[in-house]
Amino acid sequence: MKAVVFRDPETRVEVADVTLAAPKAGEVRVKIAAAGVCHSDLHVKRGEWEAPAPMVMGHEGSGVVTELGEGVTSLAVGDHVVLSWVPPCGECRYCLQGHEARCQKVATVVAPQGVLFDGTSRLALNEEPIHHYLGVSSFAEEVVVPASGAIKVRDDAPLDVIAVVGCAVATGVGAVLNTAAVEPGATVAVIGCGGVGLNVVQGAKLAGAERIIAIDIVPEKTAMALQFGATDRIDSSERDAVEQLFELIPDGVDYAFDAIGRTITTEQAIQMLGLGGAAVIVGLPPTGARASFEPLVLAEADQRILGSNYGSVRPSIDIPALVDRYMDGQLKLDPLISGRRPLDEAAEALDDLEAGGVLRTLLIP
Ligand SMILES: [Zn+2]
Ligand SMILES: [Zn+2]
Repeated sequence: MKAVVFRDPETRVEVADVTLAAPKAGEVRVKIAAAGVCHSDLHVKRGEWEAPAPMVMGHEGSGVVTELGEGVTSLAVGDHVVLSWVPPCGECRYCLQGHEARCQKVATVVAPQGVLFDGTSRLALNEEPIHHYLGVSSFAEEVVVPASGAIKVRDDAPLDVIAVVGCAVATGVGAVLNTAAVEPGATVAVIGCGGVGLNVVQGAKLAGAERIIAIDIVPEKTAMALQFGATDRIDSSERDAVEQLFELIPDGVDYAFDAIGRTITTEQAIQMLGLGGAAVIVGLPPTGARASFEPLVLAEADQRILGSNYGSVRPSIDIPALVDRYMDGQLKLDPLISGRRPLDEAAEALDDLEAGGVLRTLLIP
């Protein structure tokens, strides 16, 4: 099959003829309908995160189940699925506590080693083993994934739209509804109105937030955020975002989401908080980045800093629910998709994301 292979940051990603082995016990094969190009793929491509290479890229996608490994009873051939880049093992203490986004086996085996649960890969290129990316590797015609990472969704939802639920939407909306548990009437600031930030905005709207302040250096992005439910916008290209925020909300906000993940935006999120406020880090920085805050202020103001990994989702519960909300008109997905390209144009899609100005490009095999 055709798949997009990453070797190292100096080498342009290439479409190669990769061998995909049959699913083993507990795994399924999925024919990919669409795969989203995410900033995490860009971090890998730029060498900002350590990633097992060579690998088949991609961690967001949708498709149809075509083959079941031994013992799989939760899925059937023909099921429509959205892929989850946390395939919960179901056995570790975090999975047993219901905190599946923290799955220990995913964090220690699947993600860092670029393999499936048994420690091996189903991917090869001329006999050379190729790693999986986050147990998904969706920039390909087909994938073999753990059954727990293929989340069955309703058949009438368009696969070439709902692919984005698997990362961007789950991460953004989940950060609001699960990690922060924003209450009705809350005030919310969102720094960064790209793919994840717009989902934080629409998550805040779903949660019933009273004020949602969208912040970005690109005015087109904050304009878009208004369509997703933001009540106010701040152009941070001209003047300090924190100063402008306090002009709008003199007491500071209840929740500030950093959907960028740069040192400056993380520090701004903390500075925007009012009494009892929580800063939520959703956007991911390069490895080793540091941010600072004043502990005395945090303690006296009874504030919190929260990290949010994959929107703290429980994939099998939250992903179908998010798809339902899209189908019911409560969530916008179509405006998040800037364009669709064939798999052969993966390198160009990554270039587009790097250049800015695109939200999500879907690769269609
Ligand atoms: Zn992603
Ligand atoms: Zn687990």
